[in-house]
Amino acid sequence: MHRRLIDTHAHLDEFDEMEPIIERAREAGVDAIIAVGANMRACRLTLQWADAYPGYVYPALGVHPTEWFEEDVEETLRFVEEHLNRCVAVGEIGLDYWSREARKNKAVRRRQREIYVRQLEMAVEYDKPVSIHSKGSWRDALDLLLEHGPERAVFHWYSGPIDILKELLNAGYYISATPAAEYSKHHRAALQEAPLERILLETDSPVEYRGRPLEPGDLPLVARALAELKDVSLEEVVEATTRNAERLFRI
Ligand SMILES: [Zn+2]
Repeated sequence: MHRRLIDTHAHLDEFDEMEPIIERAREAGVDAIIAVGANMRACRLTLQWADAYPGYVYPALGVHPTEWFEEDVEETLRFVEEHLNRCVAVGEIGLDYWSREARKNKAVRRRQREIYVRQLEMAVEYDKPVSIHSKGSWRDALDLLLEHGPERAVFHWYSGPIDILKELLNAGYYISATPAAEYSKHHRAALQEAPLERILLETDSPVEYRGRPLEPGDLPLVARALAELKDVSLEEVVEATTRNAERLFRI
């Protein structure tokens, strides 16, 4: 099948009504969505949406670095593992050293690393790629991935240092472009540096953009921003990023 665009990272659990979202996405040329989990509730809903739209919504499950609660994180990790066979990735997982709790508390950062490593090891065991959140923690996120993780990974919305970017690209990993490709200095610098062969597109829906929540149907604006940034045609961006996503997620 020849797909047009693929939204490689969307939090569909945060939408109440899916039909209009999917309809607008299809109209915008989005032919597949990778729906990522974050906590127990999000993981359950992600599977529900994947069931409702087979062959269109592909599930990824994981515990997000700012979305775990000590009282149910073990149960959530078990849930992730139980359903991993039917998923295309483990995600969204990672580290966030800029979150309020992590900034002031070393133990929180340590616990984030433990939960991250557990899921990296799960990804290896089940032969799945990982979708990584690495805000303020790029060095640790990459080092732990190299030590414990699978060979397939995407650093979603990468906006970190360029030297770490070069290392992760050398290791064969991907980064993803978000709507911040239009305005974020650090994100743009990373996208400038990475070759098109290593970039995916995503909306991170329903993240806020110009005062409104994004949805997968907004993906063309990311493709346009990337085409402009890299001074290549829109077709080239669409073709390359879709091929990259199909290869990474094996869909
Ligand atoms: Zn996300």
